[in-house]
Amino acid sequence: MAHTKPKVAFFDFTSCEGCQLTIIDALQTHVDLLDAVEIVQFREAMSEIGQDYQIAFIEGACTRQEDEARLKSIRELTQIVIALGACAHLGGVNTLRNWHSQDKVQQIVYGEMGKIYSASQARPIDAVIPIDGFISGCPIDRQEFVRFVTMLLQNRQPQIPDYPVCVECRLKENVCVLMLGKACLGSVTRAGCGAICPTFGSGCDGCRGLISNPNIGGLKLAFNDHGLDETILFEKIKLFQSYQVNGIMSSKVA
Ligand code: SF4
Ligand code: SF4
Ligand code: SF4
Repeated sequence: MAHTKPKVAFFDFTSCEGCQLTIIDALQTHVDLLDAVEIVQFREAMSEIGQDYQIAFIEGACTRQEDEARLKSIRELTQIVIALGACAHLGGVNTLRNWHSQDKVQQIVYGEMGKIYSASQARPIDAVIPIDGFISGCPIDRQEFVRFVTMLLQNRQPQIPDYPVCVECRLKENVCVLMLGKACLGSVTRAGCGAICPTFGSGCDGCRGLISNPNIGGLKLAFNDHGLDETILFEKIKLFQSYQVNGIMSSKVA
């Protein structure tokens, strides 16, 4: 009997589409993975639009009322939904607009034409539908994507790091940027990126989201010890996690 390949679809909501580009790039050198599935929908890479799929990868945040119906319809049609990248996983940079009135944002971006576009609060997709997993980062890490999908296809639980960026940073023997007076979220942020930002002298902005037991109290103390106040911490977290920042800052974990 012929083996049926799992049918996979990719969807994009509000995003820069950089995560989809990363996948296209990753598949150039992982033809085996491409051969193991049947891609039925992937707007950035093909023109066919198949509606029969078991695994849906969703890139982008939910930012319009009509996005909700589209997300729910994808959820109904598929068995597995994976949030792809920081926009889908956290809301990401899109959520920065939530600090302003929608009218103002639309006016700034589109001028008078802004009135014809609909917009609502920017949210991660799990604020609208249940998800079965996520691949974090802005953009996602191509090797992590390949590992994740390989495990998914083997019916194994995809493993993603649940330890902080600091671990990878210390293994690289980087000078801690906090010592240089720069804000860094590495101690509470999920590793897997190889601590790329601190390695190049910038503080981690938290694009991969929080680990499951973030010590926010400890992070506040570390910031204070290095002359960085809670406003700076708040602003740093806001970049990718505006949707979550109030909850994170009031976290009682010490
Ligand atoms: S997570 Fe980053 S790279 Fe991916 S779609 Fe969003 S903004 Fe683009
Ligand atoms: S630079 Fe950031 S990630 Fe590296 S050790 Fe310091 S706090 Fe942790
Ligand atoms: S260091 Fe932080 S902001 Fe930079 S890629 Fe890693 S998780 Fe994202």
